[in-house]
Amino acid sequence: MPYTVTVGSLRCHIVSDGLQLSDGGGFFGLVPRILWEQVIRPDERNLIPVALRSLLIESDAGLILVDTGQGDKLGEKEWRRLGMEPRTERLIGEMRSLGFAPEDVDVVLFTHLHGDHAGGATRWQNQDDPASPLLPTFPNARYLAQRIELAAASFPNERTRGTYFPQNWQPLQAAGRLEVVEGDLRLARGVRTQTVPGHTASIQAVWVEDGGESLLFLGDTCNWAVHLERLAWVPAFDIYPMQSIEGKRRLRGQAWERNSLLVFQHDGQVVTGRLVEGARGPTVQTEIVEDGWAVAGEG
Ligand SMILES: [Zn+2]
Repeated sequence: MPYTVTVGSLRCHIVSDGLQLSDGGGFFGLVPRILWEQVIRPDERNLIPVALRSLLIESDAGLILVDTGQGDKLGEKEWRRLGMEPRTERLIGEMRSLGFAPEDVDVVLFTHLHGDHAGGATRWQNQDDPASPLLPTFPNARYLAQRIELAAASFPNERTRGTYFPQNWQPLQAAGRLEVVEGDLRLARGVRTQTVPGHTASIQAVWVEDGGESLLFLGDTCNWAVHLERLAWVPAFDIYPMQSIEGKRRLRGQAWERNSLLVFQHDGQVVTGRLVEGARGPTVQTEIVEDGWAVAGEG
């Protein structure tokens, strides 16, 4: 379900492409299960519910969508593996419930190009026909990707091949819709990006700032709240784990100074929170929470 928050005079909506099931070991890396299962209970297959959130920002540069979820182009086997219903327009449906159509989006920003972030960027012309042409899902939008990310996605290696799918961005390039950007950007009044290498070489977080308030959309720089509390907890997915730790330290300090509203993209329980002083250092005081297992329809 979508959540609307305001940051000064700016309205932001946290929308979701649903929940997928993922191996808990992927998100908690070297952390022993006996520790992370106290944060999220896995099922008998060691799967945990993982949210696929995006941020929709009403800005003076138009409607900005940060990330696009899994989208609808996966095969039956993948849908089964993820525990998701195919082709149900989850993200688009949430946007419509807020009164926004795909045509209304002016800018799509990719935090990075992994399949669970870029999958919804394109769609088949005929939703039920994988042989039909691929089109931009948001037909009037400029799509922005970092140059280094696009290079990594275009020339994947053995480790990254399973998550970079050219059908998510090549149709955008062919339609002249993909803009390659470099470094930190200002997208609109009060909306900027910050590259924070770690998960990938040029992954970016998004700041929304107005009237002395701020929101930090962390993306995969820090995808569960506990990852911000415990800097050493780094997902197995991260390509440069030591950089992830330093990036989280930096973001945590910045969010602390600004009392930022934190938005967690993949956390199956914590949607938003703010840092407060805890017994063991900065702790996330939750604001919006969900029961991921209940949302996923299990448990
Ligand atoms: Zn992700």
